Amino acid sequence: MKIDTDFHSHVSRSSARAMVSEAKEQGLRVLGLSEHVFQMRELRPLLAHMPLEGPEMALVDYIEAVQEAGRALRFDVRLGLEIDFIPDKIEAIRELLQGYPWDFLIGSVHEIDGKLLENEEGWGEAAEAEQAWHRYMELLRQAVCSGFFSVVSHPVRLFVANPHLPATIDEELELLAAEAARRDVALEVNGFDVATYPQVVRRLVRACALQGAPVSVGSDAHYPSSLANSHEASERLLREAGIQRVRIWRGMAPEEYRI
Ligand SMILES: [Zn+2]
Ligand SMILES: [Zn+2]
Repeated sequence: MKIDTDFHSHVSRSSARAMVSEAKEQGLRVLGLSEHVFQMRELRPLLAHMPLEGPEMALVDYIEAVQEAGRALRFDVRLGLEIDFIPDKIEAIRELLQGYPWDFLIGSVHEIDGKLLENEEGWGEAAEAEQAWHRYMELLRQAVCSGFFSVVSHPVRLFVANPHLPATIDEELELLAAEAARRDVALEVNGFDVATYPQVVRRLVRACALQGAPVSVGSDAHYPSSLANSHEASERLLREAGIQRVRIWRGMAPEEYRI
């Protein structure tokens, strides 16, 4: 069996209908839609610093659009959200998201102590840049331990703007994976990361295999044409590490299938 699910995708630049229609076209079995929490009107006051990627939407409208797309196209769609992990805001965010029928929640570290991963001034010279990696890994571990998320996404994304991996990166990834295994939180093999720096994702996957951490696979598609992006390469990385199970969720309960 091959990877036939995608549990990280966005609707803001197209629509839930367009994404589901493409998933069906591509022969996927299940699609997890996970719009950014900062696109949601109720959350904007807390996350006003995050640039919008499309029109703001109310939570109920997002949820209705996702559910309607599944019904209309007779497709297995799961309702998710990609949530910024910001330590001093996470409780307020959690409160605003209670009581909705989420299937899965993605935790994402998009910023380190107020500085976005992709920022204009960069991460400085080696010593300073390596320090940022240590802090990044610490925040990822906190996200795993928060008890809020089904999965922590793109855990090597800092590499996009900071190539100064510390010498201890493999140990740090193993520490993260060990925590994820203990808490039964998945770590994500992310399509953008796989397409852009597969050699770093390989180290993440190896850490997950060594520590027995659950693994999810998501393209992070912002357009229908990017759905399942990098799935073949992701599958090769998983097989190479001996990982045979992919995690997905329904009603916040984990499910797994074999590849
Ligand atoms: Zn993200
Ligand atoms: Zn995303």
